[in-house]
Amino acid sequence: QAKQLGRNRYQLFDMEAAKDLRARHQELERLRLALRQGELRLHYQPKVNMRTGQVIGVEALIRWQRDADTLVAPGDFLPVAEHSPLIVDIGEWVLGEAIAQAMRWRDQELDLVISVNIAARHFQHPGFLAGLKRILARHPQMPPDRLELEILESTALEDVVRMRALMAECQAIGVRFALDDFGTGYSSLSYLKQLPADTLKVDRSFVRDMLDDQDDLALVEGVIGLAAIFRKQVVAEGVETPEQGLVLMRQGCDYAQGFGIARPMPPDQVAAWISSYRPDWKWALLGDRRCR
Ligand code: C2E
Ligand code: MG
Ligand code: MG
Ligand code: MG
Repeated sequence: QAKQLGRNRYQLFDMEAAKDLRARHQELERLRLALRQGELRLHYQPKVNMRTGQVIGVEALIRWQRDADTLVAPGDFLPVAEHSPLIVDIGEWVLGEAIAQAMRWRDQELDLVISVNIAARHFQHPGFLAGLKRILARHPQMPPDRLELEILESTALEDVVRMRALMAECQAIGVRFALDDFGTGYSSLSYLKQLPADTLKVDRSFVRDMLDDQDDLALVEGVIGLAAIFRKQVVAEGVETPEQGLVLMRQGCDYAQGFGIARPMPPDQVAAWISSYRPDWKWALLGDRRCR
């Protein structure tokens, strides 16, 4: 009797697990189709130099145009793909599309650094470097040093020795690196010293709370200080208010990105946004002087 019951319980669990698996599989198939049918889009968020107010580049951020009036955010569809080889196909599409867009901007005399987010599984895939080279070869006019790959600090930490070698191989062809969401990945100083990243991106959560929370303020200051010590550039993400911008500027932050400057936008709005952008914030008016 008990044995019978036990077996039924197992069957129940198996069925639920199978249902979960089937749902995930269906979502993945739907996403695969979306990629093939051209429903994925890239929006671009400007990044500005805090001292000059100059727009130096844009970060490509993926969206899924599921139907005429549904634009799905990456947080709602990328996680499913991140456990599947599909993330490599999506990642290569993003790289190709972002570079093609950068070339269109270059044709209009707009010289922008294009930042592309790279998923851990894509970066760690054995074909990553070959794929990157193949995509760059399709656009021989694209200067590789105008391409910046954003990898999560936590990705770089998974296997520092291998990641460092891979980053160096990419840098040998000219490509740059930023460590995204920096401050959340428990980097030790010795790891940071080993990683050849060009830029640190201060995580948005610290910027968000820095004016109310002394610890976050200290953390932001610490990351900016680390960047100076290791001669890396530093970007603050999620800058929403002039007050945050001013404090970041005083701390010596190089670049800023956030809704307070611009939201991510479709590519056809970028040129107009740049030519109408007037950095009227206090921190941008301070010109070339550092206030430290
Ligand atoms: P991330 O790379 O850290 O990108 C920054 C995210 O913060 C973006 O969300 C951006 O829209 C949002 N953001 C920027 N400024 C502000 C601000 O001032 N306030 C607030 N509240 N949010 C701000 P999004 O576009 O939803 O992307 C979320 C994450 O999805 C990205 O975080 C990145 O990790 C991932 N992602 C986006 N596009 C791609 C992609 O093409 N490939 C991969 N592998 N990951 C991507
Ligand atoms: Mg990013
Ligand atoms: Mg980030
Ligand atoms: Mg993030």
